[in-house]
Amino acid sequence: MKHYVVGYLKKTLRFFTAFLPVTANRRKTCTGCGSCCKLPTRCLFLRDRSDGTAYCAIYRFRPLNCRKYPRTREEWLTTKTCGYTFDDHHHPH
Ligand code: SF4
Repeated sequence: MKHYVVGYLKKTLRFFTAFLPVTANRRKTCTGCGSCCKLPTRCLFLRDRSDGTAYCAIYRFRPLNCRKYPRTREEWLTTKTCGYTFDDHHHPH
């Protein structure tokens, strides 16, 4: 139960911060695993493909928080399956 409360709080936070830019240290890309569409429960618009990947039934109209996920490393809850990574190494000039 607590898991879902925290999950929905995090989702609400993502919603209200989605206007902020995606962090510059994000690398690689979405591989369509669908994990972020299950945070914390499965999205109604998530559809599965037979090859194990997933897609969004309202992709063109999806909200900003979905569009930008994972916007920051702190928001990144799907580390096991997500195609994105974050570069933590800061290169001073
Ligand atoms: S968890 Fe990452 S790879 Fe998976 S659908 Fe979301 S953004 Fe794409």
